[in-house]
Amino acid sequence: MKQERKLHIKSFGCQMNVYDSRRMADMLAPEGFIETASPEDADLVILNTCHIREKAAEKVYSELGRVRRMKEQAAQDGRQMTIAVAGCVAQAEGGEIIRRAPAVGLVFGPQSYHRLPDLLARAARDGKAVDTEFPVEDKFDHLAPPSRDVTRARGISAFVTVQEGCDKFCTFCVVPYTRGAEVSRPVRKVVAEAERLADAGVRELTVIGQNVNAYHGEGPDGRPWTLGRLLQRLAQMPGLARLRYTTSHPCDLDDSLIAAHRDLPKLMPFLHLPVQSGSDRILHAMNRRHTRADYLQAIARLRAAQPDIAFSSDFIVGFPGESEDDFRQTLSIVGEVGYAGAFSFKYSPRPGTPAAEMAEQVTDAVKDERLQRLQALIDQHQAAFNRRCVNRRLDVLFEKPGRHPGQLVGRSPYLQPVHVMAAKGHIGEIEPVNITEFGANSLFGSLAVSERESRPVLAASGA
Ligand code: SF4
Repeated sequence: MKQERKLHIKSFGCQMNVYDSRRMADMLAPEGFIETASPEDADLVILNTCHIREKAAEKVYSELGRVRRMKEQAAQDGRQMTIAVAGCVAQAEGGEIIRRAPAVGLVFGPQSYHRLPDLLARAARDGKAVDTEFPVEDKFDHLAPPSRDVTRARGISAFVTVQEGCDKFCTFCVVPYTRGAEVSRPVRKVVAEAERLADAGVRELTVIGQNVNAYHGEGPDGRPWTLGRLLQRLAQMPGLARLRYTTSHPCDLDDSLIAAHRDLPKLMPFLHLPVQSGSDRILHAMNRRHTRADYLQAIARLRAAQPDIAFSSDFIVGFPGESEDDFRQTLSIVGEVGYAGAFSFKYSPRPGTPAAEMAEQVTDAVKDERLQRLQALIDQHQAAFNRRCVNRRLDVLFEKPGRHPGQLVGRSPYLQPVHVMAAKGHIGEIEPVNITEFGANSLFGSLAVSERESRPVLAASGA
């Protein structure tokens, strides 16, 4: 039996990173690593970094300063702590991280985490190890699946990566450089992973990829399957009650995906479809490959297929050259679509991307002012959407106990957290809930069927 060691992984950024962190933990479990919530106690601390957000590298270096002090304390207590940096900042910075932060023992990119045990051994032997290659082998083939107990403990919602990398080269984005070209996993492997998750009690599956709707994995018939076709296949699994996917590009919204929204009741009527800007001039400078009209047409097609669908988006304000008029077009697209929510960020240059070299960088003061205006508008639309949910009956998938005794928290079809007084036995079940109140980010309601009338939950197994 391997010696028991403690592992702490801190994930930054997107759901891809959360998924990757879980797979790292799965990879290290056979080596005796058990996850701990407190980095101070850990034998191995992994910072799984993201390069999308502002000043990503600086944030990692400041976090490393904190972890280094923990490592020094551990050494004083006679313990050895290894610090590793993973993810997109690791990919972009490589060995530079070890030069600037000598306490770091291991640096590896998103394509290398299936080699973690070897890398750790190398770091232990040589003092340091760096691996930021883009290997030709499929890392997913080498990943250890988590045990049934671990999967259960992680809850009833899970992610499965179906696609990685991106070929779009938006001028502000590092993903094509840090995650590499688009690669799709074969349908058979995705289905096998989904079956294992459903078998362990997962009810909601989110299919993820940097550009997930560009999915073109090999199907059982030897031909590339679209994401729409893959979702149709996953919808056939009886254990899975809900399907979602993220993140999508407007240009890759094909007929099969629109048909999936029309035909699959399990596919939730909520789509994160980033537009980034409402101005054609800026969309062109961003190399988004679509116009405002193309985007609005995609939204209209989805609404025609699924009238109940709601949308969220990402916005960048202050992209180089963005005028007040361009920005107003962004404000107007928010009103035109009527988003249920959205993420908005100030543009910040990423070294090595074309936009970082563009003239006409917008000043910070202008970016701040525009961001405030945009966020206020998004908040208004989000509140209006939440308000429209009041007096509706929504199906809620209950996930966990709430903060108050006797309360559970679940998710509506639109991903809003919904707080309801209900017995714990409802966790993992989808129940109709009458929505009675709304908050900035969540809803409140009561079970539409009283506890007494409600069918017995999880009691029927008799095990
Ligand atoms: S579509 Fe654009 S923003 Fe999205 S990952 Fe690819 S390059 Fe980045």
